[in-house]
Amino acid sequence: MSAATPDPTPAPGPDPTPGDSTRSVHAGRPPAEPYTPSLPGPVFVSHYHLPGEAAGPYTYGRDENPTWTHLERAIGELEAPDDPAVTTLAFASGMGAIAAVLLSQVRAGQTVVLPSDSYQATRSLQARLESYGVAVRLAPTAGDGQLAALEGARLLWLETPSNPGLDVCDIRRLADAAHAAGALVAVDNTLATPLGQRPLALGADFSLASGTKALTGHGDLLLGYVATRDPELAASVRLWRKTVGAIPGPMEAWLAHRSLATLALRVDRQADNAVALARALLDRPEVTDVRHPALPGDPAHPVAVRQMRRFGSVVSFTLPDQAYAERFLAALRITAEATSFGSIQSTAERRGRWGGDAVPPGFIRFSVGVEDAADIVADVLRALDESREQGQTGAGDA
Ligand code: PLP
Repeated sequence: MSAATPDPTPAPGPDPTPGDSTRSVHAGRPPAEPYTPSLPGPVFVSHYHLPGEAAGPYTYGRDENPTWTHLERAIGELEAPDDPAVTTLAFASGMGAIAAVLLSQVRAGQTVVLPSDSYQATRSLQARLESYGVAVRLAPTAGDGQLAALEGARLLWLETPSNPGLDVCDIRRLADAAHAAGALVAVDNTLATPLGQRPLALGADFSLASGTKALTGHGDLLLGYVATRDPELAASVRLWRKTVGAIPGPMEAWLAHRSLATLALRVDRQADNAVALARALLDRPEVTDVRHPALPGDPAHPVAVRQMRRFGSVVSFTLPDQAYAERFLAALRITAEATSFGSIQSTAERRGRWGGDAVPPGFIRFSVGVEDAADIVADVLRALDESREQGQTGAGDA
């Protein structure tokens, strides 16, 4: 056969690896059964028929629920696509998942290393841990600052990108150092989502997150999860969930699973919109410290491009002072002034209004939604103009 004649029967190759959108749509759905829905509806149940010995898989509603099972499989497929043995456990909220790992894995006399710039409620567990006799060391995310705090630690906690500062640390480097020091590694994957980075593949023992944010992305439910490859670690977190009862409702779990189908669509659009907004902000003289890991000039960029596949929906920046920031937020029309992030709707807030984060009074955490980029940018630029003009005339200074 001449080189120009194609072979009519090419040998079949391996199935191509499905893309992220395909995996998002199909994650966790059971095999097709005639006359059944592709995503079974929520199972509302506290007690199952349970004759004889109390053996699973479903015994009591606080222990297990088929709706969680589908969702947990789905998240596990996204967090660790190459590892069918990964275990994922759904929780009532991100904090439920965080507390489950922190409080089930350490005991009196041990040491935990937390990021000094993590989500503030995670850091608020410091006092609780110390009251139980656990030592807590704090070190910054940027520059892998936690490396220097690892000696003798039992658990290293990473949050990358960090909320709200958007610093990034090198998960692989820190995980290797922590394991050499005898510590477990947990990564809060909330900002990145499993389509943004895969902490388990980078060496973490736990990848966990708030599913309230971009994972489910509609601002209509609270959820958390913990994923791990280690069956013993999974068993101890499962026992914690059952003991304290930090379980998701079946309706939330089902809504979360339904929302996962659009995860790739949403996070791609949000990431593009975030870059468009960040670039527009870089041109404004009254705006300083524009942060987003995708910006080539961002301090987080060099590490982010090595370990992340998407860079998230959150952009942060600083306006001259609190009053300026408040005028800006009030002038926004498309973007809602709200806390939380990762939603389909753009939201923004002056982060300093809560206290607890080391941010300037004019610091804005902006979560970019899936609206049209041009509309988001136009809204922000107009609100910036209005807040500057009102500041010059003294209007709105009540
Ligand atoms: N982790 C991070 C990074 C967060 O930003 C948040 C909430 O903002 C949480 C965890 C807690 O999530 P939840 O509000 O679902 O408890």
